[in-house]
Amino acid sequence: MILAAARSDKERAAFVCSPADGPQLRFGDMHPPLPTVTELRDAISHKRMSAVEATREALDRATAINPRLNIFLELFPDRAIEQARAVDRAIAGGQPAGPLGGVPIALKDNMCLGSPALDYGKTTCGSKILAEYRSPYTCTAAARLMEAGAVIIGKCNMDEFAMGSSGEHSAFGPTRNPWDPERVPGGSSSGSAAAVAAGIVPASLGSDTGGSIRQPAGLCNIVGMKPTYGRVSRYGLVAFASSLDQIGPFTRTVADCAAMLNVLCGHDPHDSTSAQRPPEDFGAELERGVEGLTIGVPRQAKSEANHPSVAGAVERAVKVYEGLGARAVEVDLPHTPHGIAAYYIINPAEASSNLARFDGIRYGHRAKLAPREDLEDLYSKSRAEGFGREVQRRIMLGTHVLSSGYYDAYYTTALKVRRKIKGDYDAAFEQGCHALLMPSSPTPAFKIGEKMNDPLAMYLEDVYTVGVNLAGLPGIVIPGGFGTVDGRELPVGMQLVGPAFDESRLLRIARMLERETGFGARMAVG
Ligand code: GLN
Repeated sequence: MILAAARSDKERAAFVCSPADGPQLRFGDMHPPLPTVTELRDAISHKRMSAVEATREALDRATAINPRLNIFLELFPDRAIEQARAVDRAIAGGQPAGPLGGVPIALKDNMCLGSPALDYGKTTCGSKILAEYRSPYTCTAAARLMEAGAVIIGKCNMDEFAMGSSGEHSAFGPTRNPWDPERVPGGSSSGSAAAVAAGIVPASLGSDTGGSIRQPAGLCNIVGMKPTYGRVSRYGLVAFASSLDQIGPFTRTVADCAAMLNVLCGHDPHDSTSAQRPPEDFGAELERGVEGLTIGVPRQAKSEANHPSVAGAVERAVKVYEGLGARAVEVDLPHTPHGIAAYYIINPAEASSNLARFDGIRYGHRAKLAPREDLEDLYSKSRAEGFGREVQRRIMLGTHVLSSGYYDAYYTTALKVRRKIKGDYDAAFEQGCHALLMPSSPTPAFKIGEKMNDPLAMYLEDVYTVGVNLAGLPGIVIPGGFGTVDGRELPVGMQLVGPAFDESRLLRIARMLERETGFGARMAVG
């Protein structure tokens, strides 16, 4: 079932603004927001609700909201109900439902879903070049979710090939922010974030190469985590920048994030970069508190470019942690200012190489040739027709920085800067910091169209997120508060970054801020 993009103003006006302390948008009482992962799982396993009922609720709400927000590129109602029935049958037969038994989940559309036997729709990557691509296999992350009993209801909109920070670079139209449909939800995992923020699904998967889970989580008032590089298998994730890409969950609570990680993490023989680590229960220590821990606040996170609501959120978080008996210290990450420059060399370099496979022959859209045109024309016409402007920009940048004569000046230099950035983080952790606290982005959500003609302004959205990918570290964003922009209340995110493979403690530190502030309880759409 393919869904139409949001089109008319009349359709959008069906959302009505409500008082400031309730949800910003009211959708109506027909299809209320879904409960959290843990609530749903418990309700289903104790037979207070069936998996089929939960799945129908999610599908109905998705179908009703999607014309306004353009969150889903595709829904799989038949497959989803089939999967949910299997969960209900297992429960009726006295078998365990699985840790995510019957929980409806959405995937970013750069994750392959399919099998030679089952048609699961398309994997478009938000691109015209893959508009008709059907994957013959399923990515490990989705396979693990399904083995745990989760029900995949659909695939979400995204910036083309995950390049972007707003969702506007999708070939299928922008996703709108559930807090204000005139604004972006962030990107590139725009639809996955909006699906959770709009209460359609309690969890979704995104991918984070330079901030694409954490930045939209912050702009949508939900929880988003980029695990340590290697924690989650990338098998079946369409490669963007392979040394940076990582799959992670969006949820409404930190406990749900832990529940998702429990299922997603682990070695995969299909991904040689996936880590061999003993299994962990990421939720076991969530309530243990932060007394005696040290939270580092990077000097660079207090930039004057931060919106006052962002600066205020950092100060408030510091006070919360101090009130709980943690120590807050200022730390220096001196190479942070070079993060964007290094990232926007390394990322396009890897992207230009990864995207070479889309040539109109092996994969993707194939252009029609005029009589005397040859193979070269086929490549260039197919790619010119299939790729959008941002993707073309990255391919050109990447090809340039890798070309002979420029390789050392750009690419090798960027790799050296990457090492320095990693060194900054290592030094902060060696000085005794258990986590670093910083914003997820400098401002609340911006307007659709505001940064589209200014790539540099768009890239600067990632100033607080790219360093974490360059250093391969885990980072989590949780709701950090609200700020008023043009008379409208908009969420701001708070980011916590930890040492590699220290997700358990990072989640516990995040949980304490969530527990004390409670901002995540407020929903975008009633
Ligand atoms: N906004 C960043 C970029 O455009 C990050 C993207 C991502 O994490 N996928 O590259």
